[in-house]
Amino acid sequence: MANKGRVLIVDDEKINCNLLISLLQDCTTIIALNGEQAIQRALSDQPADLILLDVIMPDLDGYEVCRLLKKNEKTKNIPIIFITVKATEAEEAKGLNLGAVDYISKPFSPAIVLARVSNHMELKRQRDLLEHLHITDALTGIANRRRFDLSLKHEWKRAIRMKDWISLIMIDIDFFKQFNDIYGHPAGDDCLQKVAHALDKVCAREIDLLARYGGEEFLAVLPSTDIEGAMRVAKTMKDCIIALEIPHQGTLIGDCISISLGVSSNSNIGIEAPQVLLKQADEALYKAKRNGRNQFSI
Ligand code: GH3
Ligand code: MG
Ligand code: MG
Repeated sequence: MANKGRVLIVDDEKINCNLLISLLQDCTTIIALNGEQAIQRALSDQPADLILLDVIMPDLDGYEVCRLLKKNEKTKNIPIIFITVKATEAEEAKGLNLGAVDYISKPFSPAIVLARVSNHMELKRQRDLLEHLHITDALTGIANRRRFDLSLKHEWKRAIRMKDWISLIMIDIDFFKQFNDIYGHPAGDDCLQKVAHALDKVCAREIDLLARYGGEEFLAVLPSTDIEGAMRVAKTMKDCIIALEIPHQGTLIGDCISISLGVSSNSNIGIEAPQVLLKQADEALYKAKRNGRNQFSI
């Protein structure tokens, strides 16, 4: 049995809920006694991994709950299994067509409920893992370019809507080719990991995102951050990489690893697309390189 998963049991009859709770002892179970409660619980900060949903309930019935959950971005990926006395072929088809992954008729067989819940939880786990890998950089464990692109698009739209600031910082390790040449590729990989984790710590706010953009380049999206704020973050990043004191004999900046950074900001004046912001951060980065590296430009 898939243990430790969270199952939301939705049924207006307490006796049915209790039956399922005792059956799903290896899971964390949450109860909702009506449709509205079900939606509330599904939208909470600790959403369920799977929902067992009764059909016949007063007010909001199970089909309507399913329809609402599938419409909501936050809940649409939670697998739903209908568990109901409404067991005609047409009803089962209706439930499955609404997006439920399975349909169990009451009175149910405990062994079959357990097996189906377990199988669907396992599928959900695999899907979540795939989704995570899809947007994560394999070497450093931070966000990859795909996640960065999604985040920038999303935060850009939000900034326009809220008439808010948004800033970008593009970061590039100085003389990294020489580092690989002197210390070898595995040491280069190790250095990339250390730099990524140090930069990630600086992007401390929950809405900030640091991503590996490629090779030895990183990008930070800083929503609701003006140019002064972004410059402060850039300076902290620059200092925290120097503080790592990763020895580098092939650099022209002292004797350890350093970074150069390009900062760009927008407060909805003049810039039409996030690509422009990106291009400006890139241009600022190359100015920082030209001006001697180990510094930021705007
Ligand atoms: P600059 O100061 O102008 O940025 O020079 P640079 O040598 O850092 O830049 P360049 O673009 O010439 O070289 C980047 C190097 O980054 C090339 C490659 O050896 C290294 N690199 C890119 N991706 C990886 C990686 O995944 N692992 C390792 N170890 N090295 C990488
Ligand atoms: Mg580079
Ligand atoms: Mg470089």
